[in-house]
Formats: sequence, structure tokens, C-alpha cells
Amino acid sequence: MCQEHKPVGNPSHFEGTEQEKTTAHAVDGTFAQYTQGMKFFDPHVHMTSRTTDDYQALADAGVVALIEPAFWLGQPRTGLASFKDYFASLVGWERFRSSQFGIKHYCTIGLNSREANHEALAEQVMEILPLFLQKEGVVGVGEIGFDDQTAAEEKYYRAQLELAKEMNLPVQVHTPHRDKKKGTERSMAIALEHGIKPNMVIIDHNNEETVKSVLDQGFYAAFTIYPFTKMGNERMVEIVKQYGPERIMVNSAADWGISDPLAIPKTAALMKIKEVPDEHIRLVTYQNALDAFAQSGQIQESDFINGLEIDQTQKFNGNTVLRGGQAPRVNKDSLIIR
Ligand SMILES: [Zn+2]
Repeated sequence: MCQEHKPVGNPSHFEGTEQEKTTAHAVDGTFAQYTQGMKFFDPHVHMTSRTTDDYQALADAGVVALIEPAFWLGQPRTGLASFKDYFASLVGWERFRSSQFGIKHYCTIGLNSREANHEALAEQVMEILPLFLQKEGVVGVGEIGFDDQTAAEEKYYRAQLELAKEMNLPVQVHTPHRDKKKGTERSMAIALEHGIKPNMVIIDHNNEETVKSVLDQGFYAAFTIYPFTKMGNERMVEIVKQYGPERIMVNSAADWGISDPLAIPKTAALMKIKEVPDEHIRLVTYQNALDAFAQSGQIQESDFINGLEIDQTQKFNGNTVLRGGQAPRVNKDSLIIR
């Protein structure tokens, strides 16, 4: 299996024949040749954990907008103030940082499944969620759902589905790594039970085992191109060939672990090489995510389709992305981000 192979260079994950691996390795270095002029929307990437080099690489690769879901930070938070500051950073500093590289930043806000298990704190987090969900640029409740599939996780998943329904926001559902099939079915059944329309729910981290049921029931199916554990690019191409592009979207879910923020452009390049039609590539790497989350009423494509104005002389609460002595990039008139 794939876990036995050591990653080569940037860890975009591929598995399969030697020939496929050779193609894949080539794409890692040459993807930009195939994606000239394409624009991408990454609906799941944790930029708080990434560097300015990543922002620059995303901008250079044609990523014009992204969604940062609220998630678990790798260790449990110990108090409500940590959640508050984190949510505030997603609509504040991180959005500003993204804008400095010409990328439109949106987010989803929610109580992640792992920390739902700390019930005393979870109760307090539930109280502040409505305030943050109302903020500009918040395009859904997420990422929420199951991790270990405990009773507490179910309780707060249900409570947040109600919140999404009340506020008429899409829901971004994290599906568990263990018992994925069962957890995915359960997540969908509960959403339907709460009267949420399937087209308002983005079921994330799908694989070959879950995709058919998700699409058949009318939900959006998101796929994470992530080294070793989730979808490899080759497998993703096969899924798009088999199921077509409708309601399918690709994301990087890049975070503080080994992951690849350029997973979407690289997958697009591989699709191009494998002769997936251009329009299908556009749908799964840009348009479908836009359509799904635009149901929040918070996304205007005209805000980013031609690139944001970059002005690195700007400040956020007195702070800039620059360090002493660095020259700011200002690019007000040009539509080309460079
Ligand atoms: Zn995530």
C-alpha cells in the first residue's frame, strides 16, 4: 500500500504503477505548464498553519480564493478565550494576511468534533458561535461532524446543524478517518433528520467507498488530496472520470501536518494530462465549491475573479506582513498578481 512508499520531494500523494508514479513525480515539478490561465478555489485549507511562502505559491499557481474552516489545533484548547481569539483571527488577521497576497479569504466557523468531547467547554463555545457565524465572509458552519463517533460528538453536531438551519448557512462536514463509511452515512442521515437540504451540506474527505452514496443522496462530495491517508491525485482523476464533475470538489486541507497546499493545481494538471475535459476540471477545482458556499450569500465572484488589489503597505491593527527593511508590493492597477 501507499504508506510503505517514502514521499519524494513535495509530498503530493500518488500510488499505482511505476509509470503513473513517474507521471506524478513529473507533475509535482511541472504542473504549472498544464494549468496556465486556470483559476482555482480551495474550499478547505488551514492557512493559519501555513507560511507566507505558501500564500505566494498559491497565488502564483492561480488560487484566487479559499475557505479556511475552523478546526482543532493539534492540542486541546483549555478555555473559551482560546476559541474566541481563534475565531476572531479567522475573520481578522488571517483574512488580512491572505489579502496581502491577492487571495480572497473566507472561513467557516464551528466547534470541531474532537473538542466537542470536552463538554463543559463545548457548551460555552456553542454560546459564542452565533456571533461569529454572522460575521462578513463566514460562508458556513464547519468543520463539524464525527471523529470518534461519540455521544458528545453527535450532540454538538446536531446542535450545530440546528444553528446552520436557523442561519441558513451551508454545513461543512468532516468525516472520520476510522469507520469512515459508517461515520459518513451517519452524518448524512442526521443532517436529513434535522431537515437540512442535502445541497446545503458539503460532505468532506470522501473516498471510493463513500462517494456514490453521497452523490446519490444529493449532497456535495469534497475530496481531500492529502499525502498517505486520504485521496491521491491519481485516484481523484479516476473518480472524476467515473462519476463526472457534478457536485464534486477537490481541496488540499493543508494544515500543520504534512500536506500540500498546491494539491488542487497539481490535481488539475494531472486531470489535464489524463484528458479530463477542461470544463470538468474547472467545475471540480473552482466552480462547484463556489456554488456550494455561495449559498451563504457571502461570496461575490466579482470580488476575486480578476485578483485582489495588493497593497502591502496596508496594516491590520498596526501590523503588516512585512519585516523591517522589506519593500512592500503594491499592485493596484494591474489585474495580474506578480
Ligand atoms: Zn480540516
